Amino acid sequence: MSTFTAPKGTYDLLPPSSAAFLAVRQELAAPLRRAGYGYIETPVFEDTKLFSRGVGESTDIVTKEMFTLTKRGSEDLALRPEGTASVVRAVLQANLHKQGNLPVKLWYSGNFYRYERPQKGRYRQFSQIGAEALGAEDPALDAELIILADDGIRALGLTDYRLLLNSLGDKQCRPVYRAALQDFLRGLDLDEDTQRRAEINPLRVLDDKREAVQAQLAGAPLLRDYLCEDCKAYDEQVRALLTAAGVAFVDDPKLVRGLDYYTRTTFEFVHNGLGAQSAIGGGGRYDGLAEMLGGPSLPSVGWGLGVDRIYLALEAEGVTLDLPATTSVYAVALGEEAKNVLFAKATELRRAGVATDLAFGVKGIKNAMKSADRSGARFALIAGDRDLADGVVQLKDLTSGEQTAVPLDALVTTLKEKQL
Ligand code: AMP
Repeated sequence: MSTFTAPKGTYDLLPPSSAAFLAVRQELAAPLRRAGYGYIETPVFEDTKLFSRGVGESTDIVTKEMFTLTKRGSEDLALRPEGTASVVRAVLQANLHKQGNLPVKLWYSGNFYRYERPQKGRYRQFSQIGAEALGAEDPALDAELIILADDGIRALGLTDYRLLLNSLGDKQCRPVYRAALQDFLRGLDLDEDTQRRAEINPLRVLDDKREAVQAQLAGAPLLRDYLCEDCKAYDEQVRALLTAAGVAFVDDPKLVRGLDYYTRTTFEFVHNGLGAQSAIGGGGRYDGLAEMLGGPSLPSVGWGLGVDRIYLALEAEGVTLDLPATTSVYAVALGEEAKNVLFAKATELRRAGVATDLAFGVKGIKNAMKSADRSGARFALIAGDRDLADGVVQLKDLTSGEQTAVPLDALVTTLKEKQL
């Protein structure tokens, strides 16, 4: 081992599980690509203020968990704790919302950073696939995004999860609820920090995980009872579209994304096999965020799915993904000349789309055949001087042990026919 280990709260993705991790990303992104979402990549660090405004001054993410970078010049930079604020910033900066159809539909894949107390399913660097649709207020768009998330999760083979759904109201009804909730919270026995949070951002208090706080919240007013007619109708349409698409959901009146610019639809996917860190993804509508960042009104909706936790959920459900073979053919050369010939054949096979590896270093036939077995290949290609003189290579089926001589110039077509 070297003197160094991966920093606390991070881990290395190594073969073979890294292949499954990559497949999870691809599977979650596939429904988005089929639905007109374009790929976006933004920097992993941004002006710290983007996150304090875009995620919220009173959230744990900003107050306690941000990785801020040593100041250079006058800018304070932070590693991104989430994706939405950066995507909105990028859209506004490039004026994407003025250039084509609205909504602007984007998806991303990347790593995010939060200085959390690490535990299983909670890391300081984690990976998300995210989607954002900016510039339209339409229940069908909220439903589309939820359905696409559900399609991705389901396509992986996961079944033991729930979709929690709530509405957070809008500019009209939310302030009335907010005031009622604040009144209620002022009558409780809360510590100073929580009292302060109740004043800045009372909805966040509903999300407090501590039992002593939750016990006091039993009789708290619920936003559902304060929704205006417009919000109710919007919410009902989202639900009707989900139901029609066969996406099951559970009402969770306490589910909040407690920032002022989050509106209406909010949701979370929760897996039943993950213990404390059970949220595998979540999102919602954030109609006020673009304005908070100095842009025009741009009603939007989006989500982030946690790749690390979805991978753990697959393990918890015992799902193994159907991954393409990393090596289908493994070439073993007996002698220098054969090595050169097989090296050229390996290149040819790879260019023809056949996953091929070969023995490197001086190994001897026995060790080389062991390597062939370990590689998981279906066939070994073996050639020595005599084979080459006859213009053939030996093709050995590593499952049955059967071996046949194949003319060198027919090798690529023979292997292609086997549809490896
Ligand atoms: P959030 O932005 O907090 O709603 O996060 C969206 C999703 O990202 C969550 O549902 C988790 O699946 C995942 N996630 C958030 N924080 C972490 C973390 N520290 N470690 C691993 N996954 C995380």
